[in-house]
Amino acid sequence: MVPLGLRRLMLLLVTLLVLDKAAIGAPWPFWPPGGDPGGCLSWRVMVEANNAKYWRAVPAPCVGYVWAYMGWGQYGRDVGTAADEIAAYAASQAPAGEDGMDAWVMDVDDTCLSNLPYYQAKQFGPYDPAAFKAWASRGVCPGIPAMVGLFRTLKAGEFRVFLLTGRDEEALGACTAANLAAAGFAGYDRLIMRSAAYRGQSSVAFKSAVRRRLAEEEGYRIRGNVGDQWSDFAGDRVFKVPNPMYFVP
Ligand SMILES: [Mg+2]
Repeated sequence: MVPLGLRRLMLLLVTLLVLDKAAIGAPWPFWPPGGDPGGCLSWRVMVEANNAKYWRAVPAPCVGYVWAYMGWGQYGRDVGTAADEIAAYAASQAPAGEDGMDAWVMDVDDTCLSNLPYYQAKQFGPYDPAAFKAWASRGVCPGIPAMVGLFRTLKAGEFRVFLLTGRDEEALGACTAANLAAAGFAGYDRLIMRSAAYRGQSSVAFKSAVRRRLAEEEGYRIRGNVGDQWSDFAGDRVFKVPNPMYFVP
């Protein structure tokens, strides 16, 4: 039988040990609970970091995960956080010469307008040009709320805002413009779509050519570029290893 005094001392030591562990940080409740079955969280991080490339569809074991991520709140929080970061950066850069030539470029699909209902309906299957064209023609893509807010912030900051999309201009020009207006994107400076001259070119080639034209031929200073695909930015392949512990400027 352990004496009462010794039992109290042991209880005190255990309590101190627990408090000490708590002080350095309790284990964070990772979502989904139970770890990362199927490796879907790691797969998503690799996608966002541009380590995973040339995939054609969400891996079958991760369809439910992507459905939950996109539809149950975390995607909206992540887009909102990105919008906050972008708005803070834009404010820190604050325009703009007096000449009105400071510009931002925003992608359209799944940056300004959401195609989530379309991809949900097809269970996140592979890209199907004809089916996507039929969906886009309806002009019912919802605006992504955080990006509507960011767009308005940029406009209020007196930046030019160019919307740049690989959608075919001839087939989808009118419905895309109407969809953007209905979704709250009013007052952009130009909607630049893929003209016949760029048909068949990669998104990287098309969008890089347009940005070059805006900067070099038209004289705009492109202060920022917002998109959901790495091909919205450049063609270089880079590999990012995760590190949520610190940021080196
Ligand atoms: Mg896009």
